[in-house]
Amino acid sequence: MRSEFLPFSTPTIEDAEINEVVDSLKSGWITTGPKVKRFEEEFRAYVGAPFAVSLSSATAGLHLTLLALKFREGDEVITTPMTFASTVSICVLCGLKPVLVDIEPGTLNIDAGKIREKITPRTRAIIPVHFAGQSCDMDPIFDLAREFNLTVIEDAAHAAGTEYKGRKIGSLDSISIFSFHPNKNITTGEGGMVCTADEAIAEEVSLLKFHGMSREAWKRFAVSGTPGYDIVLPGFKYNMMDIQAALGIHQLPKLDGFIDRRTEIAHFYNQELADVAELSLPAYAPYSQRHAWHLYTPLVKIERLSIDRDGFMAQLKELNIGTGLHYKAVHRHAWYQANLPQPENSLPNADYASDRILSLPLFPKMTQEDARDVVEAVKIVIARNRK
Ligand SMILES: *Cc1c(COP(=O)(O)O)cnc(C)c1O
Repeated sequence: MRSEFLPFSTPTIEDAEINEVVDSLKSGWITTGPKVKRFEEEFRAYVGAPFAVSLSSATAGLHLTLLALKFREGDEVITTPMTFASTVSICVLCGLKPVLVDIEPGTLNIDAGKIREKITPRTRAIIPVHFAGQSCDMDPIFDLAREFNLTVIEDAAHAAGTEYKGRKIGSLDSISIFSFHPNKNITTGEGGMVCTADEAIAEEVSLLKFHGMSREAWKRFAVSGTPGYDIVLPGFKYNMMDIQAALGIHQLPKLDGFIDRRTEIAHFYNQELADVAELSLPAYAPYSQRHAWHLYTPLVKIERLSIDRDGFMAQLKELNIGTGLHYKAVHRHAWYQANLPQPENSLPNADYASDRILSLPLFPKMTQEDARDVVEAVKIVIARNRK
């Protein structure tokens, strides 16, 4: 077997990114400035959004979006349990009540057909998460939003480059929030972007992200600027730095190539693991879309094995294959079990996936040999532990 550990993900950082960061460091301007402006503009154009506002993370973007929408304490927000906890935690932190809707068993995206029964007079928004980079079925979600006057906030952390019926995520009639964490399809180290056609929301998020200051600092210190500013509301400190955007402006032109390579590896896994009865492979949604393949997440059929999912991951690690866990369902985490208990068997598909899911290595720099090693190790672990 391989002698070197293969991580489940690692970013592709090349000379262009490194040189651009060095350029920022030497320029005398390292925080929010011209490179952030450029990255915002180029990302906005790439996804086809009228407005894009950069932030220090997607979590910050979700936070400020919820504040900008001015919901009231106790208002309800519908979302999925198969997500990173921050999607749901930020609702709690804003005084909102998260209402969890079960997922589809194949795509692991929110089941749009089960949303209607969870809508109440207090429902204000739906937050679909494009799981693993595959678009949720947005048409029925937008239909419900129109019928009940709800805002759609897309958690697009996995979905830079994803398309739904020929349109890029980020250009739909909603507010979309992207993440540039190192594991995501492109990275700025840490970072996020709020994309929307709603100018008022974009302006409010821009104000809230930097002290509620009426003018951004770099403009004040620029040759043509004046140093005056005004605090028009109490704001946060969620701005992206130029040394982060320096990475982003060289990552973005590579995004489509990254997705192509991720897709090749995912298809290789699909092909090589198709006959493995102990795995349930990720399913393609039936509508037209472009899957960004942020994650490759088979479910391990633990009934057929003498080990559980965590044991499966541990044995892969012994064979030098790293894995990720995306995700233990949100309602299964300690705080949520204590504070947002879900009725028994109310989220059966999420519970099923939560106990069986793992993320196999998937990143653009992986070689064909790496991918073959993963397949071989998965088959070895299964053969060893078959009941
Ligand atoms: C990564 C992630 C987030 C949070 O993004 P950050 O940029 O780390 O704040 C939110 N939701 C999902 C689904 C994610 O994968």
